[in-house]
Amino acid sequence: MNLSDYIREIPDFPKEGILFKDITPLLQDTTAFRQAIDRMAEHYQEREFDYIAGIEARGFLLGPTLAYKFDKGFIPIRKPGKLPADKISASYELEYGTNTLEMHRDACKPGDKVLLVDDLLATGGTARAAVELIEGLKGEVTGIGFLIELVDLNGRADLEGYDVYSLLEE
Ligand code: AMP
Repeated sequence: MNLSDYIREIPDFPKEGILFKDITPLLQDTTAFRQAIDRMAEHYQEREFDYIAGIEARGFLLGPTLAYKFDKGFIPIRKPGKLPADKISASYELEYGTNTLEMHRDACKPGDKVLLVDDLLATGGTARAAVELIEGLKGEVTGIGFLIELVDLNGRADLEGYDVYSLLEE
């Protein structure tokens, strides 16, 4: 099964010039979804980690599914103003302006090993900010996993020194 067949491309969404990779066809197909999760899980089978952290919103689809499979806890990394308790934040540059991500201050303790998950790696800024949050709490990022990597954008350069994995290269 070629999982790329289940990624739909939408030109000029959410704005002109972006080719949006829509993972909803993959999520909707029971075999494709299961394969995607199982293959990502296989990659992390031998790894040691305490938690899986996922980035809002599509990291919330993959992260908890993987966490359930590994019997680990899930840590949500969210857009500003969504988390109710005491939190830390990290900002990153976009083409126009900045974005911010937040994480609860008690989400992990020093030395906890965290596997970070999101749907797609583009320029790497989002994952980089999530890494800063985890490391801000002295957690250890043991891996960063994506369903899709847009290789031409070289997001890996921003994540140098980390164990970066992607299931599909587009
Ligand atoms: P970046 O910070 O540039 O690596 O962007 C990654 C984040 O933006 C992820 O959370 C993705 O869900 C989203 N994203 C960026 N580019 C795309 C795209 N072409 N299709 C779908 N999602 C994207």
